[in-house]
Amino acid sequence: LRLRNIPAARPAVEASPICIQDPVSLMGAWKSQPWNPGSDGASAPLHIEIGMGKGHFITEMARRNPDIAYLGIERYESVMYKALLRMGGEEPSNLRFLCEDAGNMPTFFKPGEIDRIYLNFSDPWPKARHDKRRLTHHRFLQIYADLLPVEGLIEFKTDNEALFDFSIEEIEAFPDFDLIKTTRDLHHDDDMNPGNVMTEYEAKFSALGNPIYKLIAKRR
Ligand code: SAM
Repeated sequence: LRLRNIPAARPAVEASPICIQDPVSLMGAWKSQPWNPGSDGASAPLHIEIGMGKGHFITEMARRNPDIAYLGIERYESVMYKALLRMGGEEPSNLRFLCEDAGNMPTFFKPGEIDRIYLNFSDPWPKARHDKRRLTHHRFLQIYADLLPVEGLIEFKTDNEALFDFSIEEIEAFPDFDLIKTTRDLHHDDDMNPGNVMTEYEAKFSALGNPIYKLIAKRR
């Protein structure tokens, strides 16, 4: 995404009832928030997308699955602002947004508090010296392993083959995850494609004829 500083972004994010303002205060309490669709004292699972961009995917997931709580995380206010404008106040009640860097997640989630993590078209950081910034680097896998329960899932999609290969290597070398499914052509994969919700980047890249890569890893 090309980033411009949008002066209206910060006040809009700060005033939005759908944006979480003080995530640290929710540590251990994410599932008991009023927007969690669980009922009768039971809490619904919490699924998050890291790097939600303008939020097409997570919003559609929330619409399709009213019994799951969704949190979209995006580090740039200018991008979050576009997601808010897109929504125009019509957001599903089981969806919230958070403007934060994924590296800070351990300061506001307790171990086991997130049930599933979606990573969609994460920035590839092609230079080897930037590999630690990739959201599938083992530095991040360690954070996800600490925050997911046993059997919690990471679902990762990309059009970038080098990032996909890197991610497979990182996950296979990481003791806390099993790679349970992979495809190098999601949209023609009869097992993995049904129910697929396309992201903004996915629609753009697949329209250019690029195959979409996907993997699912499960917490041991
Ligand atoms: N997921 C969307 C899609 O598939 O259309 C957007 C993909 S875009 C290439 C990646 C997004 O991830 C950007 O908006 C970027 O700001 C965000 N991002 C990258 N690193 C992040 C991090 N460490 N924490 C939170 N967001 C991050």
